[in-house]
Amino acid sequence: DHVANQIAAGEVVQRPASVVKELLENSIDAGANTIKLIIKDAGKTLIQVIDNGKGMTVTDARLSFERHATSKIRSAEDLFSINTKGFRGEALASISAIAHVELKTKQDGDELGTLIKIEGSTVKHQDVTVTPKGTSLSVKNLFFNIPARRNFLKSNNVELRHIIDEFHRVALAHPNIAFVMYHNGSESFNLPTSNYRQRVVNIFGGKTNEKLVPVEEETEVLKISGFVGKPEFAKRTKNEQFFFVNDRFIKSAYLNHAINSAYEGLIKDGSYPSYFLNLTVDPKTIDINIHPTKTEIKFDDEHTLYAILRSAVKHSLGQFNI
Ligand code: ADP
Ligand code: MG
Repeated sequence: DHVANQIAAGEVVQRPASVVKELLENSIDAGANTIKLIIKDAGKTLIQVIDNGKGMTVTDARLSFERHATSKIRSAEDLFSINTKGFRGEALASISAIAHVELKTKQDGDELGTLIKIEGSTVKHQDVTVTPKGTSLSVKNLFFNIPARRNFLKSNNVELRHIIDEFHRVALAHPNIAFVMYHNGSESFNLPTSNYRQRVVNIFGGKTNEKLVPVEEETEVLKISGFVGKPEFAKRTKNEQFFFVNDRFIKSAYLNHAINSAYEGLIKDGSYPSYFLNLTVDPKTIDINIHPTKTEIKFDDEHTLYAILRSAVKHSLGQFNI
C-alpha cells in the first residue's frame, strides 16, 4: 500500500507548486476567508498553509490521509455538479506518502484540536493540541523517499516561480479571501479581501489599473466577467493570461485563440494581450475530470463559447479604444 501511495503520489505531486495548489484549494473548500502560505527554499524545505476554515474532527483528521477518503462527494451524481476544488480525495494521501507532514486542526467550539505527524504514509505521532480554529498543514522534505524526484527539482528560482504562479491563480479566483505569502521569512504578497479589479492590481502592481478594460457579458450558456488589457499595453511575455471557469483556473489554447483574434489588427505580432476572465457555465456542460492536476477542461459546445468570448472582448475594446 505504501508503494501504491508513492506511485500515485508522483502523479498528483510533480513539484512543490503542486502541493501549494492542493493545500490552498483545501483551505478554500473548508470555507476559509484568510489563508497564509509560508514557503522556505522554494518549497524544498517547507510548504505550510494555515487557514481559518471549518477545521476537522479528530476522526476526519485521521481519514483525510486515506486515499479516496474525500468528504466532498457523496454520490456519483455529485460528480456532475462539482463545486468544490477537490473531489478525488488523493492529495493528502499522496503528499503524506512522499513528505513529512504535520497537521494541526480544530473546529469551532472545540476546546482542543488535533495534531498528527506523518512521514511517508506512517503516522508517527497523534495528540490533542492547542491551536486556533482552522487548519495548519506543513509539508517538509518533499520527495525525501524518492531521491530521483528530489534531484530532478529545478533551481529555487524556477520552483518559486511555479509556486507564485499557483498562488496567483488561486488568489485571482478568490478576491473575497485574504491571502498572505511569505518566502524565507519575508512577505512576498499581502492581498486583503477586495473586488476583482483591486485583486488584479494588488498582484500585478499599481500600473495595471490603467490598462484594464472591463468585459461583461451574459448569455444563456455563458457568463463572462473580468478584464482585458488595452492593446497598447500588450507585452512580449505571456504571463498575464488567465481564464477561470467556475472559479477554477484553466488553460485553453482554443479560448486563448478567441481572445487573440479579438485583438487582430490592434496589436503587433509577437505581443500578447493581458486578460483576467471569469467564465461561468453550467457545470453539467463541462468535464474537468480529465487530469489529476485539473487545469484542462472539456466544454460540450466549444464553438459557441469561442464566438461569444471573441465578440464580448471585441465589444469591450471597441468601447474603450478610441
Ligand atoms: P479532496 O480535497 O479531494 O477531498 P484531499 O486529500 O485534498 O482530498 O483532502 C482530504 C480531506 O481532508 C478533504 O475531503 C477534507 O475533508 C479534509 N481536509 C483537507 N484539508 C482541509 C482543510 N484545510 N480544512 C478542513 N478540512 C480539510
Ligand atoms: Mg483537496
